[in-house]
Amino acid sequence: MRRVLTGTSAARGMALGRARLVQPSQISIDHRPLPDGEVEVEVERLHSAMQAARDELRELRGKLQDTLPREVGEFIDAHALLLNDEELQHGLDRLIRERNLRASAALKAEGDRLGEVFEAMDDPYLRSRREDVDQVISRVLAALHRQTSREERKIASRSGQILVADTIAPADMAHYSGHGLLGVIGVAGSTYSHSAILARSLNLPMLVGTTEALSSISDEDLVLLDGENGEVVVHPTAQDLARYRAWQKEAAREGRRLAALATAPTRTVDEVDIRLFANAELPADVAQARALGASGVGLYRTEFLFLRRKTLPDEDEQFAAYRDLVLGMGGLPVTIRTLDLGADKADSAGLSLRGEDNPALGVRGVRLSLRYPAVFATQMRAILRAAAYGPVRILVPMITQAEEMQAVRTLMELCARELAHDGHETVDGLELGAMIEVPAAAISVHAILEAADFLAIGTNDLAQYVLAADRNNDALGTLYDPLQPALLRLIGHVIHASHRAGKPVSLCGEIAGDEAFTALLMALGLTDFSMHPGQLLRVRDRISGLDRKRLLSLRSSLMRAHTREQVEALLDGLAEPKRLAEPCPDTLD
Ligand code: PEP
Ligand code: MG
Repeated sequence: MRRVLTGTSAARGMALGRARLVQPSQISIDHRPLPDGEVEVEVERLHSAMQAARDELRELRGKLQDTLPREVGEFIDAHALLLNDEELQHGLDRLIRERNLRASAALKAEGDRLGEVFEAMDDPYLRSRREDVDQVISRVLAALHRQTSREERKIASRSGQILVADTIAPADMAHYSGHGLLGVIGVAGSTYSHSAILARSLNLPMLVGTTEALSSISDEDLVLLDGENGEVVVHPTAQDLARYRAWQKEAAREGRRLAALATAPTRTVDEVDIRLFANAELPADVAQARALGASGVGLYRTEFLFLRRKTLPDEDEQFAAYRDLVLGMGGLPVTIRTLDLGADKADSAGLSLRGEDNPALGVRGVRLSLRYPAVFATQMRAILRAAAYGPVRILVPMITQAEEMQAVRTLMELCARELAHDGHETVDGLELGAMIEVPAAAISVHAILEAADFLAIGTNDLAQYVLAADRNNDALGTLYDPLQPALLRLIGHVIHASHRAGKPVSLCGEIAGDEAFTALLMALGLTDFSMHPGQLLRVRDRISGLDRKRLLSLRSSLMRAHTREQVEALLDGLAEPKRLAEPCPDTLD
């Protein structure tokens, strides 16, 4: 039956597909005795569930052919063998026909019996095969549990999968995205988490905070994920499907309209040029950035080279990745951020750190790099070598004080000298920038500016540290809010200080790519934005309707706002350029 669940949209778009539960809900066993008249229908139900399980295994075997170790294929074959076992089939049929058990209860009883047989074996290997029996029985139970209509199954079999999980790790999302993933529904999670960033990067609609998802959706249910309105429709009706088709048409039309902007300049109504850079982590981002007319790469997150592996990438491997990035941008400036890992991710990057109680406040970003000079020097050398292929700037994450910038500069100069000595081509005067994401650095930005050639404001982290609100904790959703006056005041302060010092400043947090914040950030003086390339055209479109001079006249009111509501009232005015001529609300002092 149709059900609507609500969540928070973390990545826009819509998707129609089969649900794939990462933690399948408990499957209940129906122990009520079966009336005699329903016995044969129940046997039929069981047979078709077993057939569905066999089909599933065959499909899995085919898909994984050549990609998984041989042993895994053998496990699948062992399960298939068990499913085809005539004795198992007859035993189950008998339980239904002679003891009037329902199919789920028969499977449970037979599974327990076989399990005991294996458990009683002397050979430890054979004993451990009980697990296989349990897995096969669970697979058939799951197939039985899918109470989907035939029509629904027909549509579902033709569509991709929508992942339903408590939270999903970025590495898992990257893995599934290569296997037909259409969207993600998270029970928990936050819109500013790295997974949400990756979902936007992969163009996958995603909801977070869909609290009832795991309890209300079953594996294989047909679901319509609506990332535009923050809802999921389970078992959508014909009307829902019509709405989905209408959205697809509209999205295609809007896509064509925006595509025409790919070669247009980014210019305000009063003819001020604004620079839109791209945040990139995957090669596809680089291609998209160029195709959509980005001014360059404003943030290249290098962590992605380090995650999901047992050993650290060596200098040549890193060099090849950075060089390809530089070449891919065809002469446009590229900003490579040095490693931003903390104890929470270091393990998966082949660095073993002592566990920390509070990794967000621990050895993270530049703190980690300076503590592992050999790892840092390897990365620095790779970046410096790539700089011979095009304009490169180096950006340092998690800067708290100017001394850290000086230490990085010393290391950079040392690496450059070594490279020259080793006969590599080197480039002099590479610009070294600081990310402003720690409140201390934002407050004392003048000191940082003396040590940095440029700044990039990382509002994703700046917000979490200013507001003491974990960016991944959905329970704090309303507190972690870019419209908080304290945050805006800091952003405005950093932009102003950089301009006065004559040094470039950009903003590369997620709000840079959200057109709802474009006018606000321009009112705070921002002229350089860096965002996921998928957002470039929307933001360019927004800017083409804004008058920068008028926006700047609101700066002091914004900097003096006391409450979120006052900021919002100003933002409402900004949202409609024609109303900007009105005087500032006098609620501001
Ligand atoms: C930020 O903190 O705003 C930022 C851009 O970096 P990341 O999201 O990678 O921490
Ligand atoms: Mg950050």
